[in-house]
Amino acid sequence: MTEPATLRTLGIIGGMSWASTASYYRLLNEGIQARLGGLHSARLLIHSLDFANIEALQVCGDWHAAGRLLGDAGAGLARAGADCLLIATNTMHKVADAVTAASGLPLIHIADATVVAIRAAGLGRVGLLGTRYTMEQDFYRGRLEAHGIEVLVPDDAGRTEIDRVIYEELCLGRCESRARDFYRATIRHMTEQGAEGVILGCTEIGLLIRTQDVDCPLFDTTALHAAAAVGVALGGPLPPAPEA
Ligand code: GLU
Repeated sequence: MTEPATLRTLGIIGGMSWASTASYYRLLNEGIQARLGGLHSARLLIHSLDFANIEALQVCGDWHAAGRLLGDAGAGLARAGADCLLIATNTMHKVADAVTAASGLPLIHIADATVVAIRAAGLGRVGLLGTRYTMEQDFYRGRLEAHGIEVLVPDDAGRTEIDRVIYEELCLGRCESRARDFYRATIRHMTEQGAEGVILGCTEIGLLIRTQDVDCPLFDTTALHAAAAVGVALGGPLPPAPEA
């Protein structure tokens, strides 16, 4: 089979962390290979940032500078020939608008891709696990809610530990069984509170928790984002944004 004329080049703003960007690289290539067969693989450009710089800007709340860094990366990917962009982290979608403005490219939004799957599963109330920024701030929760999805998050102590594991273990490529037990207990607790499924709203959590570890539907944002991007690469539409 020859490469379709519509196979688009995906630009990935990654390195946040490298552990999950590696998952994206594998998932995107597996997805294209599954759809096109043979030796086909994804047309990708990756700008992998130094996560230490990004995390320092998050901690001091300088989202403007972070937006400039990611925006510059997006603009570079546009100049290099990307047709559309992915920000390979949930948290840094906080600066999605800056990336779109700087690059002029369509952005495959990770929350929109996740909502498509939640809707397809017929669910309306889900738990959300991610960094503190993702679980607490409006840029992410608000987007899910604008799609009509009700969102539950762990209590303050739970959010602290979920966030700590992301930055001190998962982003370093470490998966510890103690952390897995904590995440499983948190997911169980959220389902007892009424969550019909749980969003793995941090791109490293899928390295720690798999479907077989829990009794409820999981929405792994890395896998869903990559699957949406495969569809776009093959000429499909972006996942729909919430109606204004
Ligand atoms: N990859 C993570 C996420 O999906 C956390 C790292 C970051 O702060 O970007 O949110």
